[in-house]
Amino acid sequence: IKEKYGSNYNIFESAISEKFKAMLTMESELRKALKDGQFELHYQPQKNLNSDEIVGMEALLRWKHPLKGYIPPDDFIGLAEKTGLIIDIGDWVLQEACRQNKAWQDKGFQPVVVGVNLSAKQLYQRELVGKVKKILDETGLAPGYLELEITETMAMTNEENILETIQCLRQLGVMVSIDDFGTGYSSFKYLSVFPVTKLKIDKMFINENREQNQAIVKSIIHMSHSLNMKVIAEGVETVDQLRFLTDEACDEMQGFYFSKPLPPEKLTKLL
Ligand code: C2E
Ligand code: CA
Ligand code: CA
Ligand code: CA
Repeated sequence: IKEKYGSNYNIFESAISEKFKAMLTMESELRKALKDGQFELHYQPQKNLNSDEIVGMEALLRWKHPLKGYIPPDDFIGLAEKTGLIIDIGDWVLQEACRQNKAWQDKGFQPVVVGVNLSAKQLYQRELVGKVKKILDETGLAPGYLELEITETMAMTNEENILETIQCLRQLGVMVSIDDFGTGYSSFKYLSVFPVTKLKIDKMFINENREQNQAIVKSIIHMSHSLNMKVIAEGVETVDQLRFLTDEACDEMQGFYFSKPLPPEKLTKLL
């Protein structure tokens, strides 16, 4: 390569090592963040379109870096997954979301379901069900107030224990939803076999102005209901989108039109 690219090679080489160095730095910073308590959860409320009440909220991870300020999850979840750190971070998220939700219930706020995003590595670990049970026992949160969000791609794998994992979680009484629905490879066969409770229609179908999107959204809503699942639309940004979803009998909505993800002290003002 060196001969072919001549002096450009050095630029190439240093670009790679810069990137690699940045990754190593971030990896050690992520470890430190977990140890020093730099992670926070923000919560985005979810509204029932029939009753107009808040029925749930999604916990979304935020990293409050001491120098760089808030770093969004898309900038570090990938690396956390690659390095396996996502397991420890994910344990913290689960624990914190359950603790917070129970604390709100104890204070007398109306009870809502808290949604927690799982990464593939978390879903595939053998101890997952045991961990979830332990966290529910320790925090005292009733299992029906926890919803685990997995993606289609994570569910539709050949890993044979996935179906069993989901069944065990459901037996505990925990809710399981399919996130970003419509962007992965779902098969009707899997959907009817997995005991999931809710589909989350990906925001792309809701807020990208393409002609086919409304037809797609309608059919996802109808399909969910035929399979006895609830359905929520993500990324609702305008009143027109909200009206369309209400007309089509979508169960719930989440999006900037109603509220951005909020830090805990702001979220309680809506409850
Ligand atoms: P996601 O699970 O699909 O989460 C929804 C994302 O859409 C959030 O971005 C949210 O802020 C954003 N959003 C909500 N309403 C609207 C809207 O009306 N319009 C638009 N354009 N966006 C909206 P966020 O918080 O940056 O999270 C990005 C992704 O990071 C999440 O996508 C999820 O895949 C991942 N993530 C977040 N927290 C966790 C976590 O605790 N664990 C894991 N494994 N992944 C997480
Ligand atoms: Ca999600
Ligand atoms: Ca999503
Ligand atoms: Ca996502």
